[in-house]
This record gives sequence, structure tokens and C-alpha cells, in this order.
Amino acid sequence: MPIDEFIALGKPKADTDRFLMGGPMMGFSLPGTDAPLIKTSNCIIAGSPKLFPSPAPEMPCIRCGECAKACPIELQPFELYWHTRAKTFGKTQEYHIFDCIECGCCSFVCPSRIPLVQYFRFAKSEIWARERKERGRPGEGPLRMEDRARRTREGGKSGKTGQGCCRSGRQESGGSRCCCRRPG
Ligand code: SF4
Ligand code: SF4
Repeated sequence: MPIDEFIALGKPKADTDRFLMGGPMMGFSLPGTDAPLIKTSNCIIAGSPKLFPSPAPEMPCIRCGECAKACPIELQPFELYWHTRAKTFGKTQEYHIFDCIECGCCSFVCPSRIPLVQYFRFAKSEIWARERKERGRPGEGPLRMEDRARRTREGGKSGKTGQGCCRSGRQESGGSRCCCRRPG
């Protein structure tokens, strides 16, 4: 069924000014509705300025750590954010950016209203683009997904390895704390 017809069945309100696919937190705005609904189309939301008011301006990160507390994968979103901003994408991979499932929890709780997921999507796309360019291997993406699944199986949800408290298991040089700088 075309998306247009599906939307008409739902009778969207007069103030609808956009359609989102994929849910209010992880979804994205559809550039158009002249496309088919397929089996992976899980949700169409009719949005309006009332339902989705413009986000407040982004403020600087205050290192409160709320994003890390909210992350179901136990990542360090603020580290990913800083390295994405600095375009040090290799570092984002050290902090396991490809384990991010883009759930949006970190963005939701951030008191500075930083759209963290958008930064992470940007970083991932940049890394993939660079790897495709450098290696010319179209199959690199699926291999990375397999590697992620393997690490998840081996490490479980917490992914604790070695003596560190985060996924990396690396420690600060000469110190007893994990590289993620969590206390304890
Ligand atoms: S929740 Fe926001 S302000 Fe707090 S550490 Fe994370 S990115 Fe920074
Ligand atoms: S979007 Fe990624 S980094 Fe943020 S909470 Fe979800 S999994 Fe963690």
C-alpha cells in the first residue's frame, strides 16, 4: 500500500506538517509520502508544531553523566559526543560507537538538550564513508555488524572485560581506574 493511502485512512489533523517513520524518539522525517509501505515500516506519525515544538537551543555539555546513566548499552555518550565534535572518529570507535543502537535515551535525558543521536549517526556515516573510500570493500558494514554481535555474545550486556568497569576493559596508564573514568 502506498504511504499516501495509508495516511489518508488515518485522517490526519489539519495542522499536520510532517510525517515521521519509526517512532517519536528513533524515527526520522519522511522527505515524501509517495513511497510504498513495506514490512519494515513499523510506524507512521503525523506530526505538527504542537506535537513536536522546535527544540530548545543546544547548550554546552556540562559533563553531568546523565547520558551514561541512561544508556542501556553502558556506553559513554558524552565521550562519543566530544570525539564526534572533534571529528576524531577513531576515538569514537574506541568508545564503541557501533554498539550504539540509536535508542535516543541519552538525548532525552541530556539537560543541555544536545541531540546526541544525531551526532552519533553523523560519526557512523563518516566512518563508513571513509572506510568505503579507503578500502573499497562494500562488505565491510555487514562484517562490522557480525563483529558487534560476536562481542555482545562474548561480553553480555555489561560487556565487562579485563579489569576496567566499561566495555573496553582498558585502564588509565599507571592508574587503577578504568579508562571511562567511572569511580571505583
Ligand atoms: S547528559 Fe548531556 S550535558 Fe550531561 S554529560 Fe551527557 S552530553 Fe554532557
Ligand atoms: S542512543 Fe546510543 S549512546 Fe545514546 S543511550 Fe542509546 S545506545 Fe546509548
